[in-house]
Amino acid sequence: MTTAATTSAATAHPAVDETREREVLVIGAGFSGLIAGAALMRAGIDDFTIIERSDSVGGTWRDNSYPGAACDVPSHLYSLSHRQDFDWSRSFATQPEIHSYQLSAAVADGVHPHISFRTEMTDATWNDAEAVWEVSTRGVRVLDDGNVVPDPEGRTIRWRAGELILGVGALCEPRMPDIPGIGDFAGEIFHSARWDHSVSLAGKRVAVIGTGASAIQVIPAIVDQVASLDVYQRTPPYVIPRFDRPYTGVERGLLAKVPGLRRVVRAQDWFFRELQVPGLTTTAEWALDPVKMVSLAMLRAQVRDKDTRAKLTPDYRLGCKRMLISNTYYPAIAREHVDLVTAGIDEVRAHSIVDRDGVEREIDVLIVCTGFNVTDSPAFELIHGVEGISLAETWRRDGMAAYKGTTVHGFPNMNVMFGPATGLGHSSMLLMIEGQVNYVVRKLRWRRRRGAAVADVTAEAQEGYNAELRARLPKTAWVAGCNSWYLDDQGNAPAVWPFSTVKFRGLTRRFDPGAYATR
Ligand code: NAP
Repeated sequence: MTTAATTSAATAHPAVDETREREVLVIGAGFSGLIAGAALMRAGIDDFTIIERSDSVGGTWRDNSYPGAACDVPSHLYSLSHRQDFDWSRSFATQPEIHSYQLSAAVADGVHPHISFRTEMTDATWNDAEAVWEVSTRGVRVLDDGNVVPDPEGRTIRWRAGELILGVGALCEPRMPDIPGIGDFAGEIFHSARWDHSVSLAGKRVAVIGTGASAIQVIPAIVDQVASLDVYQRTPPYVIPRFDRPYTGVERGLLAKVPGLRRVVRAQDWFFRELQVPGLTTTAEWALDPVKMVSLAMLRAQVRDKDTRAKLTPDYRLGCKRMLISNTYYPAIAREHVDLVTAGIDEVRAHSIVDRDGVEREIDVLIVCTGFNVTDSPAFELIHGVEGISLAETWRRDGMAAYKGTTVHGFPNMNVMFGPATGLGHSSMLLMIEGQVNYVVRKLRWRRRRGAAVADVTAEAQEGYNAELRARLPKTAWVAGCNSWYLDDQGNAPAVWPFSTVKFRGLTRRFDPGAYATR
């Protein structure tokens, strides 16, 4: 590792306290950054730093500490393929257990010492003449609610890196709804991803906006504490049973001692999830009919009131929005003190919400479960490629696209983890990120071998790749007429992968220099 420290007085740029050079700079220490760090270590590339604005690893699994937070992908599938040695306590891991898994993996992989915590990227600009990414960071402080603010005593660092890996996450920038009056609410208000643990909900009148994956975990977890709960639903989700249970001591013993057993469980979990792919990504909608029947049967069994059931019944193609898994959501909604409001929100007042039927409901606490800025993450505004314009601007102009979900024409030596067309509606995102990271490491090794300082995917290669994805999209469930984070403002689904995970892993197995302009 080389570190060229200079004092602010000595640098050309007075605001920069220090300049550091790295072969690779990774932004974010969530799963993407941790997978990238571990793979770099395994490849013998240890001249890298991971920039992390918070004070611990974990990304979205650190931030989403709301009551009931748990994974909806089984534990052995939602774990790193090189770290299958974890003693999961149950079939679907909870957030605290996943967060501790991330920390243990970061330490065991030797990645932890490479992380620069409380360091926030403020700009990343490609310097074409010198073939480096110049990345500016500043020191930040982490507030109790998880938000970060500039630290007046923090250092401003300029990093010069040959390769940039963006692991900023797709589900990390909370999206606050644009509802009239929401800024004037005088009670407690917080987003599910910034849960305020200092607020007691006991005996309070609470409202939840949204009925997505986060909300359906929050609602059953708080329903017993609150005096009343108003759930503002815009679109009902399909909910299917959650086959979740703690592993017995015998099972945990066997999983730990029988060689390969964890991998067998993982393969089986992967296989059954992969069976959903035709029903989600082709016109064979009928392939998911059995799942739809199970969902509607569970709704009938768990919600006896006909009106409530009607409000909870989806009227769109299954899979268009993410299918949710819960055994406790419908029973929670059916409780006496829970009001499922479907009239839409007209305005939020200081102590109440008024719906579009003119009904005003008083509340003490407002919990916002309205998801994340996915296709328009603010981090994309900070990255500037060869044309000098930002990645966000490039994607607004040309549509959100990348080659193999990872590299973007005009942004040489840059890689976006969880990039365009890598999101999954059915399986573990870690499978996709591992494929991407493998591809990046192969690229780095190729560049080292050939002495190539620059690899920029060509416009033709990127366009050809995306033409195939575009041709597939009209057949998929995601564009069947509902609203979700899979879609951009134009109703395209640039975020999701419309084939099997096997196909993506095959595409990212090797680096393909023919798709790149190199020098
Ligand atoms: P989400 O799936 O985007 O859901 C947002 C919810 O808020 C939707 O019900 C949406 O309604 C509603 N909404 C948005 N704006 C609104 C407004 N202005 N007024 C009223 N309602 C509004 O967000 P999320 O639940 O946080 O989940 C995001 C993703 O995170 C999931 O798809 C999943 O990939 C991941 N996640 C996973 C887990 C897990 O593994 N268990 C848990 C949580 C999250 P519409 O449906 O009408 O748009």
